[in-house]
Amino acid sequence: MKKGCYFTTPIYYVNDVPHIGHAYATVVADVFARYHRLAGDEVFFLTGTDEHGQKVAKAAEDRGLEPQEHVDKMVGPFQDLWSLYSVSNDYFIRTTEERHQQVVQEIFSRLYEQGDIYKGTYEGWYCIHEENYWAEGQLVDMNCPDCGRPVKRVTEDSYFLKTSGYQDRLLEYIEAHPDFIRPVVRRNEVVSFLESGVQDVAVSRTAFSWGVPVPFDSEHVVYVWFDALINYLTGVGYTTDDEHFAAFWPPVHLIGKDILKFHAVIWPTMLMALGLDLPKAIIATGFWTLGDQKISKSRGKVIDPIELADELGVDAVRYFLLREMPLGHDGEFTHDGLVRRINDDLANDFGNLIHRTLPMVKKYRDGVVPKRPATAGRTAALAETAAGIIDEYNKNMRAENAREALIAVWRLLAAANKFIDSSQPWNLSKDGDDQGLDEVLWGLIETIRLAVLMTYPIMPATGEAAFEQLGFDESPGDKLFSDELVWGRLAGGGQTRPGSPLFPRIELEPKE
Ligand SMILES: [Zn+2]
Repeated sequence: MKKGCYFTTPIYYVNDVPHIGHAYATVVADVFARYHRLAGDEVFFLTGTDEHGQKVAKAAEDRGLEPQEHVDKMVGPFQDLWSLYSVSNDYFIRTTEERHQQVVQEIFSRLYEQGDIYKGTYEGWYCIHEENYWAEGQLVDMNCPDCGRPVKRVTEDSYFLKTSGYQDRLLEYIEAHPDFIRPVVRRNEVVSFLESGVQDVAVSRTAFSWGVPVPFDSEHVVYVWFDALINYLTGVGYTTDDEHFAAFWPPVHLIGKDILKFHAVIWPTMLMALGLDLPKAIIATGFWTLGDQKISKSRGKVIDPIELADELGVDAVRYFLLREMPLGHDGEFTHDGLVRRINDDLANDFGNLIHRTLPMVKKYRDGVVPKRPATAGRTAALAETAAGIIDEYNKNMRAENAREALIAVWRLLAAANKFIDSSQPWNLSKDGDDQGLDEVLWGLIETIRLAVLMTYPIMPATGEAAFEQLGFDESPGDKLFSDELVWGRLAGGGQTRPGSPLFPRIELEPKE
């Protein structure tokens, strides 16, 4: 049986207003899910929301709502955003759903019975904002080192997960699997954290009740992080759909670097205790920092992905997110930078190729794409370039390097733009070289077809529109890459349907 590919995003904290960071991790995961579907793999792609915890209960109380009513209202903006951003998740998990709560309870009981969870007492400095305990040495002027808010001295009965018992095994695993935690800088962070010694972590709370109850101790609810991590198991069918679970486990996790420890230390501990395979990869994405004031104007310090999509188009923003910075690094988000990418890469390189080629097909061939030529002399070099770039693209996409894959595609676009200049279709027409002209025009449309296919996981709506203009009856997603992403598959004979620019130029507003 073919082994499936399982991609996850973090489940987002339901109290948050969705911002560009949420959109980033989700779009990245979506691009890989889309790629693997086209590559013929079975894919399961999961995203969702994290809906328990003290802060959620507090926010509900402030609004005069029951916690469940509150989260039911808060989940909508996330679901709407993913639909706006063409996110193709197979399931949207909410940690308040019944099935999930049962899985959490089952896991909690099992780990308790086998001695990986035990009862103890916790004493420490607690920040209600992060729902996090801090050691006294970590505090800044006795305030939370993360948010600066005052912390409270708290003592409570708590259940603990024996993280300490697994640290050597986990270190060995990380050593033996260099791609397990990416990028390397994050891997090193986790290794030195593990080497410095890991303490058992609290996995239950008694101070509030908005959470999954510990099944054998009604005073306690399961700690929100423990509950949230288990979404990756629930979502794919752990204990509820064994066949589905077996087909897709283990996952590739896309996370933000701020939740690295939970995913790369606590989560593998839980999985080892459950006797499950560890994730194929934990990929920590970097942060976008605001590089200029323009984007932040309307919404304080948050980059609003809806506003961006309205102004620039969803596909252009998706392209920017994937192309601008290497996965795992931080990037600067500037409005000018975004517009420059759209104008240079999309409007100039890609758009011009299409909007130079289609008018020539119209002018010289009444808009009909020439049939696949019998000779290949004029397109031989372009064909060779394309074949090499397709290999490079596939290799990079399989290694979750979408940026490198896109850079390769843009080399193909550059080669095709040069090919127009060097083959001079207007002179072939003037000289009456019909065979040569057919071959050149066919080669250009073929190159555009391949570039559209390769960028389709990143810009799905644009890909559909491009195929429409090229006169193809199918969508780029109708067939597998093994059949379509090969030089020479274009039969020709179709009637092109030129339309409005696929990548409109954005006019930069003058500096204020
Ligand atoms: Zn804090």
